[in-house]
Amino acid sequence: MAHHKDERTLVFIKPDGVQRSLVGEIIRRFERIGLKLVGVKMLVPTVKQVEDHYLLEPGWKETVGRKAIESYAKKGIEPPTKDALAAGEKVLEGLRKYLTSGPVVLMVWKGAHAVSIVRKIAGSTEPLTSDVGTIRGDFVLDSYQMSDKDNRSVRNLLHASGSVTEAEKEVALWFSNDELIKYRLVQEQ
Ligand code: ADP
Repeated sequence: MAHHKDERTLVFIKPDGVQRSLVGEIIRRFERIGLKLVGVKMLVPTVKQVEDHYLLEPGWKETVGRKAIESYAKKGIEPPTKDALAAGEKVLEGLRKYLTSGPVVLMVWKGAHAVSIVRKIAGSTEPLTSDVGTIRGDFVLDSYQMSDKDNRSVRNLLHASGSVTEAEKEVALWFSNDELIKYRLVQEQ
């Protein structure tokens, strides 16, 4: 097992984050906690790249669909469907459109507990319930109810890997080894 200081996580700033000029603000939040940027690039994802990314995790469609249904239940509202797989397929359909609509900034961040620290700073998936002080909680107002009504993905500015194993798969999917740079920060010298 790698030393926890060498933990890496994959982040991408989604098209809404880039279009709203939030790239610097988002990077600043990861830098100030002490994480190290070891890879960065900008591209407009293809539909295949979006599918490959989300379907890396077996069962993702059903899990994301179940989460959507549960979030309606928690608010005491009837969900648009009770079929988790169908709900998950709808989320993927939304992501195909959302993430191919413009450039994303992909990054690999490295440091102690990088995966959980980045998730904490990003905030939870649905901006309506993301904590104040997180990136999603501070900069975006959206909900599953709004996105379902408009038939689109929930807009939440960035993606961050959900676990260490997921992170390693996602880093390998988006970055080649020579795009990941070895160098020292001042505090490491
Ligand atoms: P996270 O990005 O927080 O890891 P998921 O992997 O569960 O969350 O979902 C991937 C992305 O799909 C979310 O970031 C969001 O943009 C979108 N999404 C998830 N659930 C829904 C939903 N119920 N309705 C609309 N979009 C959703």
